[in-house]
Amino acid sequence: MRIHFHFTQSIPTATRLAIRAAVRRSMAKVSYPAPRLVDVVVVCDPKQSITHGHALYQHTVVLTLGPNDILMPDLRRLIAVFHHELSHVARIKSVGYGHTLGEAVVTEGIGIAVEEEFGGDIAQWAHFSGANHEKPTIQRFITEQGSADYDHDEWFFGGGELEPAAGYKLGYRIVHVYCVGHNIYPSKLYATTASEILSNSLIDLVPSINHD
Ligand SMILES: [Zn+2]
Repeated sequence: MRIHFHFTQSIPTATRLAIRAAVRRSMAKVSYPAPRLVDVVVVCDPKQSITHGHALYQHTVVLTLGPNDILMPDLRRLIAVFHHELSHVARIKSVGYGHTLGEAVVTEGIGIAVEEEFGGDIAQWAHFSGANHEKPTIQRFITEQGSADYDHDEWFFGGGELEPAAGYKLGYRIVHVYCVGHNIYPSKLYATTASEILSNSLIDLVPSINHD
C-alpha cells in the first residue's frame, strides 16, 4: 500500500505522520485480498466541512480532509471513512459496485457497517428518522431493487420523495440484519452477492411493514 499526500505544503508534517501511522495500523486488521496493492491519496479541500472519501476503480482510495482535519485530524473518523472506501475497492474488485438499486444499496450498506466495525460512530444521518420513513422506503425498494435505471441521486442524496440518504440508511439496516443473523463481520462481505444478502435480510425487514 502506498500513501500519497497531494498539496503537501498545506498538510503539516505532524498531520501526515499521524495519518500515515493510523492507516498502516488499521490495515493490519483487514482480510481483503492484496490490500498492499491499494493506493491511498490524501488531499485537502478547505471548502469541505468534514473529511470524506471515495473509491476509484479497483485500486485507489481518496481521502479529502476538511479544514479542521488538516491541523488536528480526527483519526477515528478518518479511519472509519478509509475503511468504508476500502470496502468499496475490495467489492469493485470482486462482485463489482453494482448496477441495480439493490446492488448499490447493499454495497453502501456494507460501507457504513464497515465504518462501525473499524471504530467509527454511525452518525445520525445513517438512521431513519422513524418507522414512518423506513416503511415507505422499504416498500419502494422492493419494487425498484432490480432496476438499473433508478435515480441514484434521489436514493442516496435526497431531493425526491425519499428522505436524504435513504439508500445508505436502508443499506445499513439490511447489512446489519444479515451480519447479526449470520454472525459475520461486515468487512467479510466484500465478495458476497447482493442477492444473497437481500434474500436473507429483507425477509426480516418486510414483516415490519405489514403491520401498522
Ligand atoms: Zn460509499
